[in-house]
Amino acid sequence: MQLRPEEISGILKERIQHYENKIQLSDTGTVVQVGDGIAKVYGLERCMAGELLEFSTGVYGMAQNLEQDSVGVVMLGDEESVKEGDSVRRTGRIVSVPVGEALLGRVVNALGQPIDGKGILAATETRPIESPAPGIIEREPVKVPLQTGIKAIDSMIPIGRGQRELIIGDRQTGKTVLATDTIINQKGKDVICIYVAIGQKRSTVAQLVENLTQNGAMDYTIVVCATASELAPLQYIAPYAGCAMGEYFMHQGKDVLIVYDDLSKHAVAYRALSLLLKRPPGREAYPGDVFYLHSRLLERAANLSKESGGGSLTALPIIETQAGDVAAYIPTNVISITDGQIFLETELFHSGVRPAVNPGISVSRVGGNAQIKAMKKVSGSLKLAYSQYRELQSFAQFGSDLDSDTKSRLADGERIVEVLKQGRNEPISVEHQVMILYAVVHHYLRQVPVEQILAFQEELFEFMDSTYPQVGQAVAQTGELSKETEETLKSAIQECLEHFLKSH
Ligand code: ATP
Ligand code: MG
Repeated sequence: MQLRPEEISGILKERIQHYENKIQLSDTGTVVQVGDGIAKVYGLERCMAGELLEFSTGVYGMAQNLEQDSVGVVMLGDEESVKEGDSVRRTGRIVSVPVGEALLGRVVNALGQPIDGKGILAATETRPIESPAPGIIEREPVKVPLQTGIKAIDSMIPIGRGQRELIIGDRQTGKTVLATDTIINQKGKDVICIYVAIGQKRSTVAQLVENLTQNGAMDYTIVVCATASELAPLQYIAPYAGCAMGEYFMHQGKDVLIVYDDLSKHAVAYRALSLLLKRPPGREAYPGDVFYLHSRLLERAANLSKESGGGSLTALPIIETQAGDVAAYIPTNVISITDGQIFLETELFHSGVRPAVNPGISVSRVGGNAQIKAMKKVSGSLKLAYSQYRELQSFAQFGSDLDSDTKSRLADGERIVEVLKQGRNEPISVEHQVMILYAVVHHYLRQVPVEQILAFQEELFEFMDSTYPQVGQAVAQTGELSKETEETLKSAIQECLEHFLKSH
């Protein structure tokens, strides 16, 4: 962008006039051009990258491009009121957001300002939205589970506190539900949750907040919201803002879960912003640093060591794919940054397998270490039986004369698929999960017709809680399935099964 001669002379005149005020000039600047949410500001010599700038109209902006004698500023508010020639003041602060307990239960925008009509925030502390990720020394391996309450995930793709697990799938495959169910399941587990909505419809976010409220999850949750109608810069900073709020709690030794819904829209917002700032476009028109955009965000998830405070920040980024294309630019970037991914498939979703997790291509690279022993015991055979079923299923389509071994494996497989189905807002405790999974992998459910499996599950949970509460308690307290407990569980399942078969 070239400065026009009249602008240069104007600026020169002003510089001569304010010659004495040299220091002042380096702290203020003049708007040369404004449009599309971007302002070009002359002056501001000592401006820092990412610094918060205040326009004379009271609107804020963030310094992005630091050039020789001008600064490219993204507007964080209404640009209509800003005119050419307006002055811009440095604030000396990097863009920060309020942090602290006062935010719990609130819905805020990307700058941390409340938008839920519940009055002003009582938060006193602030934190820069960007801060370096914890170093290697400060970290510890992931070893405490983050229970999602979803059978298919806790058993086969377990997540640990401090892990980064990607949720990826086409549109309308249950990605958001997976994340919100996980938030709902954290009730009473001492985990603070943050949900960052990027580029979504306002109505969708309103529904989500309503759902969280109804399930009593807002008490420990913060919703950061930059909807599709908001400026690209706000959508761009929203996840960093949410992350800063989470880091505050992490450094206090607390466990935090943060959901970024979704990073595809975040990348699109950043692309728009970069193109407007005239940064050179690269692959698919994304700027060259789009990988760094997500890596510096997700690297901030960590499990801190005892010496460093012992808190954790678990990140569940969401990526939306187009027609299942996981090899596109942004999906591959985020896959490579995270510690595993949960693939959701449209086909499974429409065939009624919900959550539509494809366990064949979903992985969790670190969560297995965090799984409780009892779950590990049942999930090993579960994964094996499930993948054998998938193999056999494709063969079985061709012929009908199958040997009895194959038939029973197919029957088991069908029941596993059925057991792993789960409705929304129905998180299941880990001890209950262990019971039903134990029943299916040890072939107890072969006599139960597939369509009655979920009814049996219901009955089993009730029966166990009322007649053998010691099993659930032992699993919950020790995390193990001891020989003795296992024996009790076996006979209990048998007992419940006999009763169920008689009454159905
Ligand atoms: P988008 O791409 O639009 O963000 P999404 O992948 O986030 O979609 P969701 O909004 O989570 O998908 O879910 C889509 C629909 O499927 C919703 O109406 C939701 O109620 C339903 N749904 C999702 N998971 C389940 C489930 N386990 N059981 C029943 N219904 C479900
Ligand atoms: Mg969604």
